Amino acid sequence: MEHVTGLRCVICHSVYTPDPALYVCPHHGQEGILDVEYDYDRIQHKLGGVAAKRPLSTHWQEKGMFAYRPFLPVAHNTPSPPLLVGATPLYPAPRLAKQANVAHVWVKDDGRNPTASFKDRASALALMKAREAHADIITTASTGNAAAALAGLAASTGQKTVIFVPATAPAAKIAQLLVYGATVLLVEGTYDDAFDLCLAASESFGWYCRNTAYNPYMAEGKKTVIYELYDQLLAQNAWPPTHIVVSVGDGCIISGVHKGLRDLKAIGLLSEMPRLIGVQAAGSAYLYEAWQRNEDVLTKPPIAASTVADSISAGLPRDRVKAITAVRQTNGAFVRVSDEEILAAIPTLAQGSGVFAEPAAAATWAGLQRAVADGLIQPDARVVLLVTGNGLKDVKAAMSAVGKAISVPADLTAVHNALAGLLL
Ligand SMILES: *Cc1c(COP(=O)(O)O)cnc(C)c1O
Ligand SMILES: [Zn+2]
Repeated sequence: MEHVTGLRCVICHSVYTPDPALYVCPHHGQEGILDVEYDYDRIQHKLGGVAAKRPLSTHWQEKGMFAYRPFLPVAHNTPSPPLLVGATPLYPAPRLAKQANVAHVWVKDDGRNPTASFKDRASALALMKAREAHADIITTASTGNAAAALAGLAASTGQKTVIFVPATAPAAKIAQLLVYGATVLLVEGTYDDAFDLCLAASESFGWYCRNTAYNPYMAEGKKTVIYELYDQLLAQNAWPPTHIVVSVGDGCIISGVHKGLRDLKAIGLLSEMPRLIGVQAAGSAYLYEAWQRNEDVLTKPPIAASTVADSISAGLPRDRVKAITAVRQTNGAFVRVSDEEILAAIPTLAQGSGVFAEPAAAATWAGLQRAVADGLIQPDARVVLLVTGNGLKDVKAAMSAVGKAISVPADLTAVHNALAGLLL
């Protein structure tokens, strides 16, 4: 890991030597999230040099996120899990662009990952770091997707997991955990309660902890989406986009996206940073509020979070320091969308692009429309929507956003009658 120079506390900026038992800054506890720092000359050397207009990788379709291993904080001999993580499609969506009144929209469909969410990128790295730490058990708290991702990746290598999820998590996500053979604890409480319980358990039992933001390596897995985006947009002669729209709960995805962009800037493949647009649900808008009111996220108290978009429900976003920095440093913005707008976005995104998203992921489409309406995004913008989770994760929410199907007896005349005035 000679390309990793240290782990820097986001609060006091102290730099620490990587150690499997070191998750957060000893002086700042859970707020003292660590950011992995690199020697970019070494990364460039490992990449065999980089040049503008040249792809970073020519085999990302087969290797997914591990095509970009020189950027990952893992030892050279740590095996990667066998599942294909990343290598997700990027679809141009001209009809959505027209609807939103911007020049270009691309949909990055990360719901195509092995467990159907973006979280696979982080959990794949968790598996590798746990292996380096010789851990018997990996644990995590999650609103559902991070847990499903960990359980799935762990199943691919035979690793044991213990998972803490709120008892209210959507059934599909709980089903994934059980199918993959995780030991599942349904916590009678919120995600925030599950998070604290998981931390206490991991300390008490010596388990490797994947908790989002607390574990410094999760954003490093998430950042890989940016290298793929680079290779995909470069192939269309469209790098870089002007805006990337990301839904935000704990804020780890937007921090990871920012990290990937900073990496590319450091090696000379990005001159102008895309603006990061963080989308929050109105019922879970901690970061939106803090950004609007210019509040200090280290002193702002938790809020009571409640939204249909379970994956972005977070009363105290764990990665709030990095997330607000990502938006501020890229001259981006936070926007807030209602549950009604999020639900309505599921069918409009699907019908405008063919991509079926879970509520938290469809929120990006609602967020783009809001950002355009608020004048935050101009008509010449070239926008990437990061779709972070597949719609089949939460069928109940999707069904509440669409009309009823037409019931007919098995009879052609009935079909004729039912469609009269509709299609015929
Ligand atoms: C986790 C998740 C998010 C939000 O990511 P954070 O790092 O918590 O901000 C968004 N969408 C989906 C589908 C997720 O699973
Ligand atoms: Zn510190």
